[in-house]
Amino acid sequence: MSSTYKDAPDVGVEEVSIARLHGLACWECGAVTRDLAPSGDVRVNGAARAFTVFVCAECRPRVTS
Ligand SMILES: [Zn+2]
Repeated sequence: MSSTYKDAPDVGVEEVSIARLHGLACWECGAVTRDLAPSGDVRVNGAARAFTVFVCAECRPRVTS
């Protein structure tokens, strides 16, 4: 089971910022000064690879599965 990317939601590139996509800012709120933790993968416009996105502690409870 090497591919967890299959389940990554597909997002449009116009919906994301580069900083969020590369885990430099919270995926949910865009904060860059808080502690960030990995929150899962997203795939942009059906790209072959998925990106791991991060969320801050404030947003984490809302996105935890
Ligand atoms: Zn946040």
